Amino acid sequence: MEKVYLDYAATTPVDKRVAKAMEPYLSEKFGNTMSLHSFGQEAKFALDQSRQTLADLINAKPNEIIFTSSATESNNLAIKGIVFNMPKGSRARHIIISSIEHPCIMETTKWLSRGCKITKLPVDKYGMVNPKDVEREIRPDTILVSIMHASNEIGTIQKIAEIGKICRGKKVYFHTDASQSFGKIPIDVKKMNIDLLTASSHKIYGPKGAGLLYIREGIKLVPLLHGGGQENGLRSSTVNIPAIVGFAKAVELCQKEMKTEAKRLSKLRDKLIKGILKIEGAKLNGDKKLRLPNNVNVSFPYIEGESLVIQLDMHGIACSTGSACSSIKLEPSYVLLAIGLKPQEAHGSLRISLGRFTTEKEINYLLKVLTKIVKQLELMSPFKHEK
Ligand SMILES: *Cc1c(COP(=O)(O)O)cnc(C)c1O
Repeated sequence: MEKVYLDYAATTPVDKRVAKAMEPYLSEKFGNTMSLHSFGQEAKFALDQSRQTLADLINAKPNEIIFTSSATESNNLAIKGIVFNMPKGSRARHIIISSIEHPCIMETTKWLSRGCKITKLPVDKYGMVNPKDVEREIRPDTILVSIMHASNEIGTIQKIAEIGKICRGKKVYFHTDASQSFGKIPIDVKKMNIDLLTASSHKIYGPKGAGLLYIREGIKLVPLLHGGGQENGLRSSTVNIPAIVGFAKAVELCQKEMKTEAKRLSKLRDKLIKGILKIEGAKLNGDKKLRLPNNVNVSFPYIEGESLVIQLDMHGIACSTGSACSSIKLEPSYVLLAIGLKPQEAHGSLRISLGRFTTEKEINYLLKVLTKIVKQLELMSPFKHEK
C-alpha cells in the first residue's frame, strides 16, 4: 500500500541533506564546545556558524539566539524567564495570550497563574486576534504579550507586526511562538518589533531535540537550567552540536527554497481545499488567505474526526484531528471551540498538513479516499439521521 504522510505540522522527516550535514558531528567532530583543545574549538566553530545562519533568517544578531531542546522549552524560558526576572516586590504580573496558543503556552501560563494574572484574548471566526484587543487589554501591570505567529491547528497567520508595534509603544515585552511559520514565511524580528521568538527544528526537516529562542539584545531572562553557564548563562548543559548543525542546515534549505516552496504548497493546498469543499457539509476552518501555505483544516458535520483519521490510516494516509498533543485526549479542540465551532463540529475536524515531499498525486489520492470514506461514515452516523 502507498504510504502518504500529510501530518507535517506534527513533525517532519529529517531531510537527507540535513542528516548528511549532521553526521560528522556525531562521530569525528564530537567535541564539547567548552573545551579549550582543538576538538572543543571545532565544535565551538560549528556552533557559532549555526547561530549565524539562524540569526540571519530572521534578521537577528547571533548573540540574540539561544539554543534549547525544543519549542516547548523556548516558550517556557521566554515566559518564566521574563516573569522570574521581575524585581522582588514588583506588582507587575499581568500576561496576555490568545485563546488558541499551543498547549505549552497554555500550560505554562496556567501554572504561573498562582502568581500572575492571565488574560486570554478571544479570536474571530477565522482564528484572528484583533490587535486592538491587545492594545485595550494592556494595563500598567502588564509585562508580557505572547501571541503565536501561525496556528498549528488552523494555519491562521496573526498580524504580528501590528501587535509588535503596539507592545513596543506601550513598553510591554512581546513574545511570539513561530514554530509553524519559521522557515516557511518571512520573519523580520526588527521590522516586526518582536522581543522574543520561539522556533523548533523538527518542524522544518531538522532533527528533534533542537529549538531556539531569539531574545532581543538587552532583555534579561532568568534561566530554567543552572549549571556550567552555556548559551550565555541562559541554558546550561553541554550543547547538542549535531542537532544544532542539523537545525542550521534545515534553515539554510528553507531559506533557499522558501519562495518557490510556499508557492508550490499554496497551489496544492488550494486544490485540496477546493476538492474537499465539494463534499457535502464540509467546511473550512481558519482564514482563507492569511493562512500557512501547508495547512488545511476542515470539519464534517456528522463524523468523528478520530474515525476519519483511522479510516485514512487504513488507506495509508497520515493526517490528524488537530494538534498532535491534544489528539489523544479525545476532547474537542479548544482552538476550534475558540473560533466558534460547536463541540460536535469540532469533533468532526481533520487537519491535513502538507510539506516538502508532498506531491500532486498524493493530494489526488487523498481526495479520492476522503470522499469515499466521508460518505461511508455518514451512512453510519447517528447524527445524520436525527436531522
Ligand atoms: C510543535 C509546536 C510546538 C512544540 O514544539 P516542540 O519543539 O515539539 O516542543 C510549540 N508551538 C507550536 C505552535 C508548535 O507547532
